[in-house]
Amino acid sequence: DVPLVVDGLVKEYSNGFRAVDGVSWRAERGQVVGLLGPNGAGKTTTMRMLVGLISADAGTVRVLGREVGAGSRVLGEVGALIEGPGFLPHLTGRQNLEAYWEATGRPRADANLDEVLAVADLGGAVDRPVRSYSHGMEQRLGIAQAMLGTPDLLLLDEPTNGLDPPQIRGLRGVLRRYAEGGRTVVVSSHLLGEVEQTCSHVVVMHRGRVVLSGAVEDLVQAT
Ligand code: ADP
Ligand code: ADP
Repeated sequence: DVPLVVDGLVKEYSNGFRAVDGVSWRAERGQVVGLLGPNGAGKTTTMRMLVGLISADAGTVRVLGREVGAGSRVLGEVGALIEGPGFLPHLTGRQNLEAYWEATGRPRADANLDEVLAVADLGGAVDRPVRSYSHGMEQRLGIAQAMLGTPDLLLLDEPTNGLDPPQIRGLRGVLRRYAEGGRTVVVSSHLLGEVEQTCSHVVVMHRGRVVLSGAVEDLVQAT
């Protein structure tokens, strides 16, 4: 089973603007797929449809063998960081992740809390309220939350926002190792260099369409 299959996806916002205009692509096990494109290309709109945060006007998304659509969100089953994780500001980073895990209804023993908190690299701040966090710290906690429970599919929308260069390099290794276990990572970015260094495969979007896709090494050779 292919973990993620996007087929003919279309999204037109209520003002009539067609942000996603018939895109099809897939992500296989072991791949780190970069959704690459300039601001406004339709990456976030696509990501929102992948988890059912918004519904598509046409086309289908199949995640881990199941169709995502109106009324069938897959948030929780897939790990996702899309448009801000919405943490509770008065709770600590650790408490926020505990609350998130509890909301998924999954067994407490399956929560690899310490493992993902190590990825967030927050030091002593894990036990301080999230309202005291910088944007980068919140972003790292959001990535950690998405990885909680080691989901087979990890979706991250512009995860390097607010991260400094050493943290970006660190994340690169984390994502590669994550996919090496046969899991799948999809990460959006507007930076070609970032996708080239992090991803095994790339889907290039421009004005709501896929203009190029394939293995990163093939595309780099072609240019
Ligand atoms: P829908 O067509 O899915 O109902 P709406 O047009 O009602 O979406 O907008 C949903 C949200 O997106 C609103 O909070 C709105 O402020 C925001 N929004 C509207 N236009 C834009 C835009 N051009 N870019 C980003 N966000 C926008
Ligand atoms: P990206 O993530 O690649 O920057 P987005 O998916 O956020 O692209 O946006 C694609 C296009 O859709 C942009 O032109 C944006 O302004 C527009 N857009 C996003 N959300 C809305 C909305 N709710 N209503 C109207 N237009 C929107």
